[in-house]
Amino acid sequence: MTRVTLDTPLSGIIGGKSAKPFEKAFGVSTAEELLWHLPRRYSRRGELTPLTGLPVGEQVTVVAQVLDVQVRRMQRRPGQIVEARITDGVGTLTLTFFNQGFRAKELRAGRQGIFAGKVSEYRGAYQLQHPDYEFFDADEEVPGGAQLEEAAAKAWAETPVPIYPATSQLPSWTIARSVEMVLDALAEVPDPLPPELLRSEDVLPLGAALEKAHRPRNDADWRAAQRSLKFREAFDLQLALLHRRRQQSAEPSAPRAAGVLLERFDAALPFTLTGDQLAVGGVISDELALPHPMHRLLQGEVGSGKTLVALRAMLQVAQSGGQSALLAPTEVLASQHFRSVIEALGSDLAAALNPVLITGRMPAPERRRALLSLASGNALIAVGTHALMSEGVTFYDLGLTVIDEQHRFGVDQREALRQKGTQPHVLAMTATPIPRTVALTAFGDLETLTIRELPPGRQGIETFVVPEIEMPRRAARVWERAAEDVVAGRQVYVVCPAISGGTSPSLEEGVGEAADPLPADAPAAGPQAAKRPLANVTDSVAEIRAMPQFSGMRVEALSGDLPGPEKDRIMSEFASGAINVLVATTVIEVGVNVPNASIMIVRDADRFGVSQLHQLRGRVGRGAHSGLCLLMSVAEQGTTARERIEAVAATSDGFVLAEIDLELRREGDILGTLQSGGRSTLKLLRVTHDGDLIAHARDLAGALLDVDPQLLGHPGLAATIEREETHLENLAKS
Ligand code: ADP
Ligand code: MG
Repeated sequence: MTRVTLDTPLSGIIGGKSAKPFEKAFGVSTAEELLWHLPRRYSRRGELTPLTGLPVGEQVTVVAQVLDVQVRRMQRRPGQIVEARITDGVGTLTLTFFNQGFRAKELRAGRQGIFAGKVSEYRGAYQLQHPDYEFFDADEEVPGGAQLEEAAAKAWAETPVPIYPATSQLPSWTIARSVEMVLDALAEVPDPLPPELLRSEDVLPLGAALEKAHRPRNDADWRAAQRSLKFREAFDLQLALLHRRRQQSAEPSAPRAAGVLLERFDAALPFTLTGDQLAVGGVISDELALPHPMHRLLQGEVGSGKTLVALRAMLQVAQSGGQSALLAPTEVLASQHFRSVIEALGSDLAAALNPVLITGRMPAPERRRALLSLASGNALIAVGTHALMSEGVTFYDLGLTVIDEQHRFGVDQREALRQKGTQPHVLAMTATPIPRTVALTAFGDLETLTIRELPPGRQGIETFVVPEIEMPRRAARVWERAAEDVVAGRQVYVVCPAISGGTSPSLEEGVGEAADPLPADAPAAGPQAAKRPLANVTDSVAEIRAMPQFSGMRVEALSGDLPGPEKDRIMSEFASGAINVLVATTVIEVGVNVPNASIMIVRDADRFGVSQLHQLRGRVGRGAHSGLCLLMSVAEQGTTARERIEAVAATSDGFVLAEIDLELRREGDILGTLQSGGRSTLKLLRVTHDGDLIAHARDLAGALLDVDPQLLGHPGLAATIEREETHLENLAKS
């Protein structure tokens, strides 16, 4: 066989037929990708997997011992059935095979091995039907057998057995065997990390780490391997992000100095800027005036005045004829931004800057007109949804891209928009506070700016949990209170997790506008919770309209499945006060601004993410009246579901909530489409737990780039980064 390197296609090592399932199941097609398919855990031959509480319907891999086996005739049909019981020493699991009599000979009592299959329940007992298995003694002597010394037997029993993430096509031991073939054929693995770093950080050389992760001789081996590989992940990622940021910041781009457009705007402002708005605005203004692109992430609570900061940046860019694109995650939000930009500019400036709206659903002639004004440079501001990133959209001179609610977009999408100009400045904004470790990982190429101060005169928001099962009276009172506010001239939002009965949680247009998926391991809300279908928009509208206290009031529905113009109409009627109660899905989550709204009622609030609830309540209390947020839920006390919403009610500090959210959410939700190197996802690194490591890796990566910015002395690392760059560019083009 030719020398195998990390880049060798898997098919060239284990054969095309064997390689195919790896591609299909895990997207693994090279030696490197297979070696980064790391064991999920390590078992021991002498140590059996507990068999209680196996998840029904899921593929499992367990280490167990055969307890007994019996063969019997089937009752209704001809044929026989082999039933073997395996045990962990306490519980048992039945393996069943139809018409495979030879199994009875293999499955002898006392034999130990790995068993894999899908768990099902039959007459109250767990079983695996036609499972795969492999005995530990297949190619070795049974421990204690004549040939084995006692010490050898002990070593055999204690050697960790890697258990891989597996599928029914690819059981753990098949993966292990392919990994062994690759490791045996592998030429010496060059290590991209500088040797000084390996020494100072006590990190195993790459080849050794991969070997020990897959073929550990003891627990210390795989622990050291995991630690080393995790460090590599953190370091590669930070190096790539930092390098990218420094590269971009070094690129030439048109300096955009402020001028009379911004002065005119500021002079006409009906309020004074807050201290934070001024400070943040100053940094942005200075950076826009430099001959290098700015890359900033602006964080600030809902209503802290970020959009205003962005608009001032756009005016500065417009001074030299530069265009700005404002990207919003939903149509509702884009339309609203568009309206408020025009309003904030005032008629003279609006005429001068000629803002256009670009969304996927606008009529073709209107869209053509807008596209034309952008291509000709006649329009200096474009507000839009994803449609802004589509191929037909060209700018005459894109100077600034502003991305609202950055957490809704991935790195690749930001990149796609950036490519529409020559090194435009980038301002990403988010109202979801981002803990530092996440910011470093997911947005490592953006430097953060924060607005903490709210504009004066905000009345604040009170939040209460309304436990519908324990306190039905209080639940009824919610609707009375809402009607009272409407009578007093105020408006009410009601948010539901589903659009209509029988639908699963709402899936809206745009990026992930659905309620956040619950963490996979979140316990159910309690026995009662399961009995009722999710609160939905359609039924809620009907229910509320039928309540006597709402007679004569306008109660309307807004959800992402309505046609665009219809959504806009309802939103503007609510904004104008013509609609009293707006029943909606999370389409109204971000940015929507109706200062007269005073109550936010969230039904089945436990179905939403912590940050999402925080965003939702930010919709009220934006004007002269204080806000009230009522989180209705059937989740019972003591459940995680209930704890989440109690946490939201207990604090109004978005940063505290972001930390709580981080603990409760899965990594994938946080990182979105973030890609790391040639590997498609993070393997061992967890932003939730590895904050210190990530920060440390960033410092090390920074120090290395200080000395060798082009990585000329580190070709291996340069290649790693190159891969990352190409990857991002390809994503941007696709
Ligand atoms: P964000 O984008 O951070 O959610 P916005 O920029 O939409 O916040 O601001 C929310 C509201 O507050 C808008 O109506 C805006 O005009 C107003 N606003 C912004 N800055 C100030 C300020 N310094 N003083 C008073 N009101 C402000
Ligand atoms: Mg906003």
